[in-house]
Amino acid sequence: MQELLKYQELDSKLRKRNAELQNNENRAKANQMQQYMRDSQSKIIVLDESASKTLQMINKLKQEQEKVVEKIEKILKASNNTEDELLQNEEEATKLAEVLSKIERELTNIQNKLVSINKDFEQLMKNAKTAKSNLIFYKQEYEKAKQQIEPQIETLLKELQAQKKKVKPDMMAKYQSKSEGKIFPIFVPFTNSRCGGCHMEVPVGKIKELETNHYIECENCGRYIYKI
Ligand SMILES: [Zn+2]
Repeated sequence: MQELLKYQELDSKLRKRNAELQNNENRAKANQMQQYMRDSQSKIIVLDESASKTLQMINKLKQEQEKVVEKIEKILKASNNTEDELLQNEEEATKLAEVLSKIERELTNIQNKLVSINKDFEQLMKNAKTAKSNLIFYKQEYEKAKQQIEPQIETLLKELQAQKKKVKPDMMAKYQSKSEGKIFPIFVPFTNSRCGGCHMEVPVGKIKELETNHYIECENCGRYIYKI
């Protein structure tokens, strides 16, 4: 049992080191930056599409504008032979002028939209650039932590391998069958007739088994309760 407890102690240290790496603040921040950059990338694609659609609309409106201008010029140049013709052309010119001013209003609106798209785009690019340099920084910081912790992990793994050989195979198998689960420590002491993990009282019948076998499985939490 002592050898297994030593093994568990080493395992506990190893789990802590791994958790340190896993929960490293700079690692989390680097991941956030990466996510931000991915999101920016998709936003840029959307903005790009909307910019080219807007440009197409602007071109279409400009073409319409030109046509209307041409028509108006034609009317202005026309020689009005009769009063009727003059009236008709004047009427036509007024209508066209209205159409023209409507097109111009639309053009102004849509050009403003393009300006706002460009602004968003610039801001996005600026933020993405900042995110990139932050990402590099956080990655470097995480690497530093990794370089410090990884040799410790290596050493612990070696110690753990060596210690494993000293533990009875049947006990080791029991330990390992639970080592992937959420409960840790896996072997807990029998304290005040209770499980040292979940503090559930051990039934009298089970205590006898504990005296003989030195350890039993807790019916409540699944840990192994040991008694030396
Ligand atoms: Zn328990």
